Amino acid sequence: MAEFNSRILIIGSGPAGYTAGIYAARAGLKPVLISGKQPGGQLTITNDVENFPGFPEPVNGSELMQRMREQAVNVGVNIVDDIITEVDFSKKPFVCNSENSNIFIGDTVIIATGASARWLGLDSEKKFLGFGVSGCATCDGFFYRNRDVAVVGGGNTAVDEALYLTNFARSVTLIHRRDSLRADKTLQERLFNNQKIKVEWDSVVDEVLGTDNPLSVTGIRLKDVKNDSVRDIKIDGLFIAIGHHPNTELFKGQIELDAEGYIVTKGDSTQTNINGVFAAGDVQMPRFRQAVVAAGTGCMAALEAEKYLSEL
Ligand SMILES: Cc1cc2nc3c(=O)[nH]c(=O)nc-3n(C[C@H](O)[C@H](O)[C@H](O)COP(=O)(O)OP(=O)(O)OC[C@H]3O[C@@H](n4cnc5c(N)ncnc54)[C@H](O)[C@@H]3O)c2cc1C
Repeated sequence: MAEFNSRILIIGSGPAGYTAGIYAARAGLKPVLISGKQPGGQLTITNDVENFPGFPEPVNGSELMQRMREQAVNVGVNIVDDIITEVDFSKKPFVCNSENSNIFIGDTVIIATGASARWLGLDSEKKFLGFGVSGCATCDGFFYRNRDVAVVGGGNTAVDEALYLTNFARSVTLIHRRDSLRADKTLQERLFNNQKIKVEWDSVVDEVLGTDNPLSVTGIRLKDVKNDSVRDIKIDGLFIAIGHHPNTELFKGQIELDAEGYIVTKGDSTQTNINGVFAAGDVQMPRFRQAVVAAGTGCMAALEAEKYLSEL
């Protein structure tokens, strides 16, 4: 058990957390960053990242995050591999307790705990994650030019992703477990009018099919939820679009959250409803869900925290 005192505490080690750390350290604020149970964040479960500026060739997600970590360490961020389990924002300085019984005390806190994609929970889905199974059409759609892909889901995100994928793919199959979609009517109209898209109703993915060498998706086994019959369809890529949940259970009752649990920030700022507590990345920005956006808001949070401290 140890006590860490810092002017800036950063919770989370995704692109938002590391960027906040880099800016805070370069401002001489000696930030302490707690990395959480997924050091490096969501990008560590993806293979090729092709849209993060500065990398002319695709970069492996884990490698990109390792480089961010090294950069943070090099400029003076104190990274502690631990998980915050409890926070007290009711008085200042702010206090956070951890799984390893450490106590973190900060004049300001930047929350960068991100969000987690919901997955189907199949072993085969896990096996092919990053090798034909994806959680992000904006990130990976480009790799499926003239290929056949499927999207799982029935809400706005799934329909949006299916429409987006038609920019690249030869065909897009939307797989939905019910006989109607939850998505907005206008989105549904666009979906039904698009010749490249067909919908498999009342169906769930039972298994992702593919080869071992190389690891690659070749199809999916669908199960009809009404009569349990199964059928295989050939596809090259599977996009899971059944939602995300923000990692904010820890902050319930301590800070303002919206109806879906995302942290509410003020206008074009990262300031939360608690003076001195800022939030950056996917945990407060469900709209974009991109690493570069998370990094951008991490920078904003550090600059705002620095200004807050200078005005204290
Ligand atoms: C499969 C997949 C592929 C993707 N591909 C791309 C891509 O190619 N390009 C792109 O731009 N975006 C991509 N994204 C989206 C991108 O990963 C996210 O937008 C980005 O990682 C969000 O960064 P973040 O810093 O907000 O949070 P995250 O990356 O979610 O990181 C959250 C961090 O908070 C930590 N944390 C959580 N709870 C606690 C706690 N209690 N205590 C301490 N720490 C905690 C976690 O350990 C983690 O380090 C992809 C996402 C997925 C799921």
